Amino acid sequence: MSPSLNPVFDVIVIGSGIGGLVTATQLAAKGAQVLVLERYLIPGGSSGYFERQGYRFDVGASMIFGFGENGTTNLLTRALDAVNVSQETITDPVQIHYHLPNQLDLKVERLYEQFLQNLIANFPHEETGIRRFYDECWKVFNCLNSMDLLSLEEPRYLLRIFLQHPLACLDLVKYLPQNVGDVARRYIKDPELLKFIDIECYCWSVVNADMTPMINAGMVFSDRHYGGVNYPKGGVGKIAQKLVEGLEKAGGKIEYQARVTKIITEQGKAVGVQLANGKVYRSQRIVSNATRWDTFAKLLPVESIPRNEKKWQQNYQKSPSFLSLHIGVEAAVLPHGTECHHIILENWQQMTAPAGTLFVSIPTLLDPDLAPKGYHIIHAFTPHWIDDWQGLSPSEYEAKKETAAWQIIDRLEEIFPGLDTGLDYLEVGTPRSHQRFLGREDGTYGPIPRRKLRGLLSMPFNRTTIPGLYCVGDSTFPGQGLNAVAFSGFACAHRIAVDLGF
Ligand SMILES: Cc1cc2nc3c(=O)[nH]c(=O)nc-3n(C[C@H](O)[C@H](O)[C@H](O)COP(=O)(O)OP(=O)(O)OC[C@H]3O[C@@H](n4cnc5c(N)ncnc54)[C@H](O)[C@@H]3O)c2cc1C
Repeated sequence: MSPSLNPVFDVIVIGSGIGGLVTATQLAAKGAQVLVLERYLIPGGSSGYFERQGYRFDVGASMIFGFGENGTTNLLTRALDAVNVSQETITDPVQIHYHLPNQLDLKVERLYEQFLQNLIANFPHEETGIRRFYDECWKVFNCLNSMDLLSLEEPRYLLRIFLQHPLACLDLVKYLPQNVGDVARRYIKDPELLKFIDIECYCWSVVNADMTPMINAGMVFSDRHYGGVNYPKGGVGKIAQKLVEGLEKAGGKIEYQARVTKIITEQGKAVGVQLANGKVYRSQRIVSNATRWDTFAKLLPVESIPRNEKKWQQNYQKSPSFLSLHIGVEAAVLPHGTECHHIILENWQQMTAPAGTLFVSIPTLLDPDLAPKGYHIIHAFTPHWIDDWQGLSPSEYEAKKETAAWQIIDRLEEIFPGLDTGLDYLEVGTPRSHQRFLGREDGTYGPIPRRKLRGLLSMPFNRTTIPGLYCVGDSTFPGQGLNAVAFSGFACAHRIAVDLGF
């Protein structure tokens, strides 16, 4: 190797989603020389933002876990702390206001007992089952929340954790292969209540309870009442911006408009990356924060996809993308007492169908500074497949966007009458926009099981079969969501730090 080609960086991270940034900041804080390469203009990926006419819109995530103050599962708080930055947050008193079939109208209050009372009021005959099911979720959470969450691929860490928390570890091993549906049916018999448990899972896992791992449910169903859902002041994009600030303070670097087109391998080992502009960077370790589909089929030769990746693809498929409406609306349209997050579903049969479940987020109810005075932001999105948006002429594409957008506005009118006349701004993002701006194949939200799997057992950790190459983010354990990809970032950085001797 010529001297000019010697590795300059210890670690290169491809992509600045929260998974990539947590990996980068954790390693930089340990003294590693880290370079993050981001194809877009700003950091954050699916937790980024864009600004139009005085509105600051979140592109995706807005129901944020991981900003609690106590325990060990508050991974966003911890990731920021590690590089000496912090983010002000605003507490959301209600996680979700559900508007479901058969007039099932229910709020998930931050206070656990209040939430249980709301649910029991709708299903009084199932009081015992409701308590036993959600209490079982707490068992999972309490185990997780008692230990440092680091790499499960690091034997010495596993041994230490086991010696410190033997019972919690044994409990977690028990829950690892379980799915929510099986646990729920042990306690609950009412078919409509089981459907409610389905949508409780679907709204973040995008699959029903039978396919949703119990470990993830334990986190979500308990942490919303423990650390709570907290919105970052200034918008979700601030989280990535703060992590970048911390990265740079710790000596790390980030380059924007730096699209990696190739992971360079030598004798089967990942040694560097090539950018679209031809520039080459080398490092001792490469981390991909792109999805597994993008990493193994686009950045590496498609003909040599490792066997275990093919196996993974037999177990997991891409979830659909979303059709997103970013709306600016007169404040008067929202009735007094409106909550920030809503789920709207008119027919249980349509829950997993394209355009079935409608997700709504109104972050300006928590942070009014995100919109001009007197206006609110409504972000409404619903699953859509990219295939339905391909092969259209520009005018057909625009017409389809318009039709789909008005179908959503009509549904929103049911809970926000007068929305149509109060519209100030409307931008429609399709699966094609998600693919283009978020750099994710088919604009997918992330991997979902093709069939019922054994909980999280088949979800890969950070190492890959290619020496020197690691993956981080939502196509690694434990899956989608900001706090989940932060977990993956902590684990990835831990494994690399051990491998490099930091
Ligand atoms: C509409 C929507 C709503 C959501 N709502 C929530 C929510 O309320 N709460 C929640 O917790 N989660 C939510 N999520 C999920 C959450 O946003 C994601 O799971 C999480 O942000 C994924 O993070 P990540 O680190 O895996 O990668 P990503 O966010 O996908 O980031 C990957 C980054 O890598 C960059 N990149 C990709 N390829 C390359 C390349 N070749 N070269 C250079 N850079 C590259 C991309 O540009 C991107 O910046 C939502 C997602 C969407 C789409």
